[in-house]
Amino acid sequence: MDILKEILSLSDWNIGKKENSPLIIAGPCSAESEIQMLTTAKSLKDIGIEVFRAGIWKPRTRPNCFEGIGSVGLKWMDTVRQETGMRISTEIANTKHLEQVLKHDIDIIWIGARTTTNPFAMQEIADALKGVDIPVFVKNPVNPDLELWIGALERLAQVGIKRLGAIHRGFSSYEQTKYRNIPQWQIPISLRERLKNIPLLCDPSHISGKRELIKEVSQEALDLNYDGLIIESHIDPSVALSDARQQVNPKDLEIILKELKMRNKDVNNQEMQSILSDLRTRIDKYDNQLLDILEERINIACEIGKIKREHDLKILQQDRWSSILSRVIREGKDKGISEATISKIFKAIHQESINKQVEIMKEEG
Ligand code: PEP
Ligand code: MN
Repeated sequence: MDILKEILSLSDWNIGKKENSPLIIAGPCSAESEIQMLTTAKSLKDIGIEVFRAGIWKPRTRPNCFEGIGSVGLKWMDTVRQETGMRISTEIANTKHLEQVLKHDIDIIWIGARTTTNPFAMQEIADALKGVDIPVFVKNPVNPDLELWIGALERLAQVGIKRLGAIHRGFSSYEQTKYRNIPQWQIPISLRERLKNIPLLCDPSHISGKRELIKEVSQEALDLNYDGLIIESHIDPSVALSDARQQVNPKDLEIILKELKMRNKDVNNQEMQSILSDLRTRIDKYDNQLLDILEERINIACEIGKIKREHDLKILQQDRWSSILSRVIREGKDKGISEATISKIFKAIHQESINKQVEIMKEEG
């Protein structure tokens, strides 16, 4: 389905996005009190933020946590808009939330990561949005499933939402990493390949889980051509009722934003272009060599597969595989390649060998 024909680029959304600079949405994880909302919003406005965010209903992992202030927070949102002139945005997770949000004339809504995973919830929200002209962002689902993310966007495009965008907030993982939600940048990059130029924001707060990482994640997003950032900011993060570790106060946000580099998409410099083009030709050559080597390696794995079949040997020889993996990780490190990358590449290569050997086992000997 070509849902994109009708989708507007972010500068045509009429939400205060300036040409050639990223859209920055900022505000607390949760609305907590009128004073917290107003003081945060005023400080954010002072540093040039035009769009305010705050969660009214909070999807919390465990029960008995602060689950959001509820509809009263929408009145505070309205006060923020009146007193600062900022646009206001919040998350909705069901049609009851949508009804409330439309009643209060909220400017921008987003669908949270847990809701994007649920096609029933998405379809109900989409049906209720039929004929409504409101900007909607869809966060990636918590699990790394590109189709689910695209599916949620398609449901909204189908009912006529034209100001439609995506927010990358990272993916849950059982693995412990430095991130709260691992970015897996290849997934939003693939989203943009599939849905050409869909407006894309990064949420460095939920990716990072801690404020110290926000700048580096934001910089990476801008370097990957994102259209903007949505960052959690609280007037006093130490007393925040949710996501305290990842919120920054408006002053620190100002420093982060000032330090971010806005790099060029393109530079009109013949000499540089020609150097780049030479280097890229060399990269292409190595990619071809990598493919040739992979082909040879797979052919050998097939030979081994035939021997295993003839002698009724199991496919997985655990000790052999463990020793390959630890050797390549060690040698990769000496070459300056991270353990995570080597491990991913070699696990994928090993899986391909297993797949081929499984096929061979099925053949008659
Ligand atoms: C949020 O933005 O506060 C939030 C709950 O995010 P996510 O849906 O990405 O977890
Ligand atoms: Mn949050």
